[in-house]
Amino acid sequence: MSAVLTPLSGLGCRHYLAGRCLYEEHLNPGLDQGLRCRVLTRLGRTFDDFLVRAEAMGLTEEQAGRAWRNRFPETLAREGSCRDYLPGDTTSFPDCANAAGELCLLALPACPGRCRRFFKRQAP
Ligand code: SF4
Ligand code: SF4
Repeated sequence: MSAVLTPLSGLGCRHYLAGRCLYEEHLNPGLDQGLRCRVLTRLGRTFDDFLVRAEAMGLTEEQAGRAWRNRFPETLAREGSCRDYLPGDTTSFPDCANAAGELCLLALPACPGRCRRFFKRQAP
């Protein structure tokens, strides 16, 4: 009779967060843009494009700031939706229960259980 081995939980690993593994992100923070919240990524790109256009138009910082604030509601309506959004209970944008800072938990690989990269979290 063969025994079935189940791995220990990854809980307690410093790379573990809500059932997901942050190992690659901790190794190269920010390298994989696909791990970022899609809403933040789209809004960031839109803002960068806006800055390029504002500069080309010769707007002052103040004029550019005003123009961005004026068009922000429309931009948010266009770029701010996400089919996986879950209302969070936070004070930070986009206030999504799937967000971990600027990362999206759903984009992170699942932790399959304690692995050779397990690194014990230090007590606070
Ligand atoms: S135990 Fe391994 S897979 Fe799980 S979070 Fe830690 S490093 Fe990632
Ligand atoms: S589920 Fe939430 S955190 Fe993930 S991409 Fe959508 S809004 Fe961003």
